[in-house]
Amino acid sequence: MDSNRTKDIIIIGSGPAGYTAAIYAARADLRPLVLAGPEPGGQLTTTTLVENYPGFPDGIDGPVLIENMRKQAERFGAEIKFDTAAKVDFSGEIKKVYVGNTQYLAKAVIIATGARSRTLGLPREKELWGRGLHTCATCDGFFYRGKTVAVAGGGDSAMEESGFLTKFADKIYIIHRRDEFKASEIMKKRILANKKIAVIWSSEVEEYLGQEKLNGLKIKNAVTGETSTLAVDGLFFAIGHVPNTEIFKDYLEREPKFGYLAVKDAVYTNVDGVFAAGDCADYTYRQAVTAAGLGGMAAIAAERWLEKQ
Ligand code: NDP
Repeated sequence: MDSNRTKDIIIIGSGPAGYTAAIYAARADLRPLVLAGPEPGGQLTTTTLVENYPGFPDGIDGPVLIENMRKQAERFGAEIKFDTAAKVDFSGEIKKVYVGNTQYLAKAVIIATGARSRTLGLPREKELWGRGLHTCATCDGFFYRGKTVAVAGGGDSAMEESGFLTKFADKIYIIHRRDEFKASEIMKKRILANKKIAVIWSSEVEEYLGQEKLNGLKIKNAVTGETSTLAVDGLFFAIGHVPNTEIFKDYLEREPKFGYLAVKDAVYTNVDGVFAAGDCADYTYRQAVTAAGLGGMAAIAAERWLEKQ
């Protein structure tokens, strides 16, 4: 079976970092195997118009952009499996990656597992998941036609999610823990000018209200300490991301606060022959374009490393 043969490179993840690494590795004739993971295409698949990816003056839809990257990688011979790496073993010279009971072997591995949305972690989150609590307006905003929703966060994601929700909801409250947004000027301006959107500054959600379904939020003002109740049908989290690095923790060094993979010279992990690219290792920039760039760098580094072996 194919899985018994030792590959030159396995790429774990299929966002801009993973697919760009695949394009470069495939063009270097390394026939990479890409394990696409639980959310093929990564975060770009849950976004709408991407306006800051160079080469597209009118913007491009996130899902279309990532689909194009996939096709480009396949055109040069990358093999893409829509499977999830559940376990790895980086103890030996040959790296092992497990999908269920299937073991894949490779001389080099590029990790491009990205990050997932962070939530507030308040009680009853699991119970109300999908019943008022969401992380993706593009995916679930449709259910809130004519309703009132809240978005937690103050970065570009919160702006983007709120803007998208105006297509459906009648009223959107952005709940932000500080008195100014972290978001970029252009996105901030657009959102503050939108009449459907109101901002609840310096406030944090303390409790989810409602039995079967969310019907409100208990909110605490960070300045006055006062609590109040806000009636909403839904809450969308836009409070940043958590890197998908848990399965590597026994082998790879991670930064202690959030668990981003620790890298040297941009893409080298502490294990020889294991490289990392994109949001799983990049706390600072986290852009589609930087992830793509790092994916290309990881593939070039891996190719050079393989040549030396
Ligand atoms: P960010 O890390 O930029 O922002 C997260 C926001 O959530 C911050 O305002 C932060 O507050 C708040 N926050 C974090 N943790 C909590 C918490 N526990 N409780 C309450 N609030 C919390 O993440 P984003 O996802 O917004 O953006 C990530 C990157 O992606 C950025 O570089 C951004 O520019 C980019 N991006 C670009 C887009 C575009 O160009 N179209 C669209 C979306 C994202 P505080 O401000 O106090 O730190």
